[in-house]
Amino acid sequence: MRDAGAPVAVVGAGPVGLAAAAHLAERGLDFVVLEAGPRVGAAISEWGHVRLFSPWRYDIDAAARRLLEPTGWTPPDPDALPTGDDLVRDYLAPLAETPRLAGRIRTGTRVTAVARRGLDVTRTAGRGDRPLLVRAAGPDGTVTDLAARAVIDASGTWGHGNPLGHSGLPAPGEDEAAPYLAGPLPDVLGRDRDRFAGRRTLVVGMGHSAANTLLALVELAKAEPGTRIAWAVRGSSVARLYGGGDADGLPARGALGTRLKRAVRDGEIDLVRDFSITRLANGDGDVQVTGATPDGERVIAADTVVAATGFRPDLDMLREVRLDLDPGTEAPAELAPLIDPNLHSCGTVPPHGERVLAHPEPGFYLAGMKSYGRAPTFLMATGYEQVRSIAAALAGDREAADTVRLDLPETGVCSTDLVTEDQIPGAAGGASCCGGGRPGPVPISIG
Ligand SMILES: Cc1cc2nc3c(=O)[nH]c(=O)nc-3n(C[C@H](O)[C@H](O)[C@H](O)COP(=O)(O)OP(=O)(O)OC[C@H]3O[C@@H](n4cnc5c(N)ncnc54)[C@H](O)[C@@H]3O)c2cc1C
Repeated sequence: MRDAGAPVAVVGAGPVGLAAAAHLAERGLDFVVLEAGPRVGAAISEWGHVRLFSPWRYDIDAAARRLLEPTGWTPPDPDALPTGDDLVRDYLAPLAETPRLAGRIRTGTRVTAVARRGLDVTRTAGRGDRPLLVRAAGPDGTVTDLAARAVIDASGTWGHGNPLGHSGLPAPGEDEAAPYLAGPLPDVLGRDRDRFAGRRTLVVGMGHSAANTLLALVELAKAEPGTRIAWAVRGSSVARLYGGGDADGLPARGALGTRLKRAVRDGEIDLVRDFSITRLANGDGDVQVTGATPDGERVIAADTVVAATGFRPDLDMLREVRLDLDPGTEAPAELAPLIDPNLHSCGTVPPHGERVLAHPEPGFYLAGMKSYGRAPTFLMATGYEQVRSIAAALAGDREAADTVRLDLPETGVCSTDLVTEDQIPGAAGGASCCGGGRPGPVPISIG
């Protein structure tokens, strides 16, 4: 066994990293959690003002609950919808303080690389006999190399947004336009209000991040005259985001899509379809965003552009481990066909665990949001099952590792008439959702 005395290193103290820690603790395995932010749930805190679509019943890992219950923790109402801030305050922070986890979480510690100790990625002989190495920079910048018997990289994708430009590349001028670009989920009605009040905002993207920001801007515009909202999407249809309305397995998400649709219909949002961004140019206090459209070039001037264009995983830190990733989604190769947005526009995923997540590098796993690579439909409950299975495998309990289950509500989003309702006559794509509308876990398209 590879340095069985070394701990399992968990990268990231988000919901999935902490769930991994809870399962490892239950299994009696030594572990350490390395978190780049100043506290647990640091990425979620950046979108803490956003309300989740998943009620509490789907947001709490089973092993985490078992650690929390004896501490006098008050479980939240299972049917209530937490905000990101609620999730951190009422779940992740108390979980981190449970006796079995406290003292094993190092905050302010950013992992910069994972490798096999003493061997670069090209060397094969003896690879499985050596521990993994995790290089991390601590709060004072000191770099340490930690030996680990296994690594669970649950560092998410937050902070690694897709560019605004087409073809997966930043548009010319995108870097220079940074002062005019907001992150994917600005707090429009809270701390970032002044940036948007009475000004022109262009929101780019087709996920629920875009929807959240657009609806917050609509609310702001009611109180702040002169607030103008444009929404640019690459495709010809936004039906996927309008979603299933009353038929949605997660009612809060259905309601969001319905409200968005109404705001566009009522002219509160200027929706620009088929807009493929080719250039950004800084003007005199604003930014000109040029896009190719079927009718030729069009320029949208904005005071701020919200890039809600989705996320991609940071793979640079993993160059010295042997990964088996799908070239399209950048998800583990066996997981990719289950979540590939080209094949699964509704994001259904069967339960999956350690076997599907394994790489040629023994003991290395991607889990949580990062395991989905560029696919936008990750749900926390899926990640909890991933890390339960990984912890079982690391403990040598093969049977438990291979017995995977996912208990998520069925979706009503896959019905084809929802798609055709918004379809522009003659446009490509459309009613091809989800292989016959098979019910399955509810997708959430982030980005
Ligand atoms: C706006 C929004 C709404 C969502 N709503 C839902 C919902 O309703 N239901 C649902 O199931 N899912 C939802 N999701 C999707 C997903 O479940 C969450 O994004 C969830 O936070 C993913 O958990 P995670 O632990 O994989 O990653 P994260 O929560 O991103 O946690 C990763 C952690 O790793 C840390 N980190 C990053 N890089 C490093 C590094 N190099 N070294 C050390 N630490 C590092 C980060 O600081 C962070 O704390 C939503 C996502 C977003 C963005």
